[in-house]
Amino acid sequence: MTIDDVVRAKRAISHAQATYVHALAKFAAERPKTADISAELAVVLAESEHTVRKELDWAEQLTTRLPATMNALTEGVVDLRKAAKVANQTAVLRNELAAAVDREIADKLPHRDAEGIRRVAYRSVQRVDPDGAETRAEQRRSDRKVTLKHQEDAMALLSAYLPAEQASAAYARIDRAAQRLRTEDDPRTLDQLRADVVADWLVNDSADTAAAASPKADIYLHIDFETLAKLADRPARLSGHGPIPAAIARQIAHNPKSTWRRVIMDRANGTPITVSRSRYRPPTAVADYVRVRDYECRFPGCHRPTEFSDLDHVQPYSCGGKTCTANMIGLCRRHHLVKHTEGWTFTLNPDGTLLISTPSGTTYTGKPPHGDDIGNQQKLRANKRRRKRKKSARNRHGGGDDDQTGGVPATDPR
Ligand SMILES: [Zn+2]
Repeated sequence: MTIDDVVRAKRAISHAQATYVHALAKFAAERPKTADISAELAVVLAESEHTVRKELDWAEQLTTRLPATMNALTEGVVDLRKAAKVANQTAVLRNELAAAVDREIADKLPHRDAEGIRRVAYRSVQRVDPDGAETRAEQRRSDRKVTLKHQEDAMALLSAYLPAEQASAAYARIDRAAQRLRTEDDPRTLDQLRADVVADWLVNDSADTAAAASPKADIYLHIDFETLAKLADRPARLSGHGPIPAAIARQIAHNPKSTWRRVIMDRANGTPITVSRSRYRPPTAVADYVRVRDYECRFPGCHRPTEFSDLDHVQPYSCGGKTCTANMIGLCRRHHLVKHTEGWTFTLNPDGTLLISTPSGTTYTGKPPHGDDIGNQQKLRANKRRRKRKKSARNRHGGGDDDQTGGVPATDPR
């Protein structure tokens, strides 16, 4: 094996990515404008919708207005990650200006790493569109957001994308508060103190913050009784995050300041709670049971916690569907809407197993994560067998959106 073999292998990947980009662009162009292709591609490719939407956007840009970069991808000069840097930088430009950047940097693409290509493209964008800087800064400001990214070992990253002056002022204030907390006998580092200050300001009630005026949000902690009582050490699960060690779960559960809601799982008791359909809004017991059973939105690959989700009647209430655990699932608002689009069929078995058929006929089977095996993430088995789409399904699911909403303000943890 020589270095040339490695280079050839890498070029082959880029070439295959060019084929993928063309296929995506063509697929998108051939589908009706109303079709929800990102949801369908996400299921079939087992990718997040966020990833699919990004790739669709790159595919459209590369095949329509960035011919030189597309050519570099096809020739194996850059891979898709590098080509995407050009697409991301030029996304804010009109077609003719994007094409000008594409031309200008074409000979600068070889022998640069992805960050180098991003910088070259950024500088070129500033050159071809100097007047756009202010508009773009305004645009970026409208993109401000707070994100929560779950990480390993019971940790998560909470970050805010802010206008520079606000971010700097916020950091300075956090830093001052952390410095004031520093004492000889406090073993915490300045980094730890800053983190504790932020968590304290955001999570705990205090008279002078906006947080005090907002309702407390409950986050479910799924823990079995033996573990809570320290008789066992089975991993617990924090909704939206995943498994956390038993000792950490007990710390959260027993902390009087905790805003986490304990869900004690009895491993032996899996009996669904069924009530008559005379009540439309699910009684609290049913709603709680479904949220705990499903843990996350039941759409394949979606990890939005059920406490931020809608509760959906799989067979619509208006068509005789019962308000019981055997007919209800947790679906986030986005996938609740997908379910009601043409061509999608959802069927729930009495044991909680969900069968989904996509518009192109691919079928999926998913079991709720709770049941026989508390510790397992939702396991989804892709059933590759193509199924003839059932026209009648649309009629069964076409009724109005008659389902109860989660009632908790949407915060997207991803
Ligand atoms: Zn979802």
